[in-house]
Amino acid sequence: MPYVTGFPRIGEKRELKFALEKYWNKEITLNELQEVAKTLRKRHWKYQKEAGIEFIGSNDFSFYDQMIDTIVMVGAEPEEYNDLDGLDRYFAMARGDKTHKALAMTKWFNTNYHYFVPILHKDQNFSLNLDKVISEYQEAKALGIETEVNLIGPVTFLALSRTSDGSNPLDLLDRLLPIYQEALNRLEKIGAKNVQLDEPALVRDPDEKLLNALQKSYETLKADDLELFVVTYFEHANEAVEILVDTSVDGIGLDFVHGPKNIESVEKIAKSGKKLIAGVVDGRNIWVSDIEKKVEFLNALPIDKDRLVVSTSCSLLHVPYTLEYEEKLDSNIKTWLAFAKEKLNELRIIDKLYRSKELGEDEALLEANKKANATRKSSTQIHNKSVQDRLANLTKEECERSLPATRRLELQHEILKYPILPTTTIGSFPQTKEVRAIRKAYKDGVMSEEEYKEKIKEQIRYCVKVQEDIGLDVLVHGEFERNDMVEYFGEFLEGVTFSQNGWVQSYGSRCVKPPIIFGDVSRPEPMTVEWITYAQSLTDKPMKGMLTGPVTMLNWSFVRDDLKRESVYKQMALAIADEVKDLQEAGIQIIQVDEAAFKEGYPLRDENKNEYERVAVESFKIATAVAKPETQIHTHMCYSDFNDIMPTIDAMDADVISIETARNGNRLLEAFKNYNYQKEVGAGVYDIHSPRVPSKEELIKEIEKKIQVFPASKLWINPDCGLKTRKWDEVIPALTNMVEATKEIRKRI
Ligand code: GLN
Ligand code: ZN
Repeated sequence: MPYVTGFPRIGEKRELKFALEKYWNKEITLNELQEVAKTLRKRHWKYQKEAGIEFIGSNDFSFYDQMIDTIVMVGAEPEEYNDLDGLDRYFAMARGDKTHKALAMTKWFNTNYHYFVPILHKDQNFSLNLDKVISEYQEAKALGIETEVNLIGPVTFLALSRTSDGSNPLDLLDRLLPIYQEALNRLEKIGAKNVQLDEPALVRDPDEKLLNALQKSYETLKADDLELFVVTYFEHANEAVEILVDTSVDGIGLDFVHGPKNIESVEKIAKSGKKLIAGVVDGRNIWVSDIEKKVEFLNALPIDKDRLVVSTSCSLLHVPYTLEYEEKLDSNIKTWLAFAKEKLNELRIIDKLYRSKELGEDEALLEANKKANATRKSSTQIHNKSVQDRLANLTKEECERSLPATRRLELQHEILKYPILPTTTIGSFPQTKEVRAIRKAYKDGVMSEEEYKEKIKEQIRYCVKVQEDIGLDVLVHGEFERNDMVEYFGEFLEGVTFSQNGWVQSYGSRCVKPPIIFGDVSRPEPMTVEWITYAQSLTDKPMKGMLTGPVTMLNWSFVRDDLKRESVYKQMALAIADEVKDLQEAGIQIIQVDEAAFKEGYPLRDENKNEYERVAVESFKIATAVAKPETQIHTHMCYSDFNDIMPTIDAMDADVISIETARNGNRLLEAFKNYNYQKEVGAGVYDIHSPRVPSKEELIKEIEKKIQVFPASKLWINPDCGLKTRKWDEVIPALTNMVEATKEIRKRI
């Protein structure tokens, strides 16, 4: 009885992405968009059916996001969108338009998928709109496929919501449950048999209030003719299971890949007589399962075989579609990978073996699977002895800078001689059409390397000139050679590869193609030195070298699962350390190691927090410890809340950290003040997400606020984040105003 928690929807050739973008550009009609959607749903159901999946979902499709779908389903669209309806209202919530702001977007647990945050209020009314759910169920039914209807569970829906009045969204449960009950009644009436309620919110250290809400929900919701499956994922859900076993739900879904502690709950579920939906095929990563090991694992679970359902660990939304279009991947590496479609086969084979069924034609697939796992273990492509030895014999000098930060900063001030409130930027400058065309031409082989380099250098010249004219104190080269801050470095590293078509939905029509870290990581040659030294040669001002840190590199990649993650982080750190060393030797005095994804990599359970912090800090330090005391190490983090992690930030031991303080007010900076932070902080003074140019007066006020909170002697002035999404005619006046405002403030202090 294989079970799939959810299937990707963007299309294996990103058909939905392109159709959506055309629809928004008015190049195709609503009907045409709906046709594309219908074709995709049909194809996805068919794939699952043909693979022998018994529990196939419907309503896992979405035009943008399953949380917005749920907002519509329960009638919780905020009032400001009331002038619109249907898909117009839907896309206004998702993307905003001339008169509407989009809903806030944030990461779905610890994935790189973003959902939209419902905004409720204490008198919120709900009303049921089940049109999408019913029509997709019936669409599948007409194709001869009985689906389990996927819904975000009421507890998770509220737990992920915010309110405009500060009330607790969970207090709305009594109002929301009747809507869910009505939905179940309607589904029962149209003949649906199974409903999946996703309740991943329960894996994040649930407090009493959340657990009470869970209990209330599943004691209340009843449906005699429906099987109700409550599924959790990404971590263990042991507290939730205690409660769910005493309710009338029919099955409980647990993720055994990312929540190994779920094992503790199996006996309880067995005793309760409920089904266990056992997530054993990894929905978050792309390595082939060791099928025999999975079967062994399932066999050892203390539960009757007919009550166990073999499942994915979570929705397959988080992995690419299929290996079928991969023509360039190394042929060995390719055998070690399983994307969504290939995972369907794994599910079927695991299920057959578990139930001692004839394998038939699957015998060959099982053999291939065994072989893949065996060759992966012994492959020389993966194992690099010199990297392993280096990691095993790390010296203190490789882990720790030689002087304490306060001493280092004194030396750095002597050499760099920057003024009080030094001004700088976070790294990237506008990625214009022209810049993208240059990279594409080179990548496609229609531009020679020589010409490419000259064109990028031309961009760098312009960028340096602009910064000098504006009067910034510490300059950057602009990152024109980079498509993406992770992919760019991944392409240089040994042990890292890329798929051609391994797209994963990030939000709406946006997809990412994460690097695949398959083996021991090393850096065979310099990655940035040529660009940065060239930029430095153009100016007497200090040029800041720009790298991506080890934590961010891993958090935005598919990471090998055959080695402790800690070792992969540290191998990556050593590779970056090599680059830091080369930059330093080439005369670069300031090097920024970006850790944009540091905070989002935090584990979902507090019990794992210390370990993550230890490994992340150690890795960052390994990446930067080669810096001499005189070399200034910067780091940068976005969208972070620092209050609870100040000791960790401090332990990273960067000389300067730049943070996003413009959008979040002074709250972020206060964390540094309260901690009595002794190193330097770059405070973001304007939001780079908006095309609006902040005025000099406004920026003066902004800087005044900053120096009231944090000593001016330790403060840098910069925009919130990189400028790559902006236009030159926004960037130039904004930075000019920033520098002018800073000069004005300098006169007064
Ligand atoms: N240096 C990078 C840039 O400016 C940092 C990006 C980020 O923080 N997301 O683009
Ligand atoms: Zn940033």
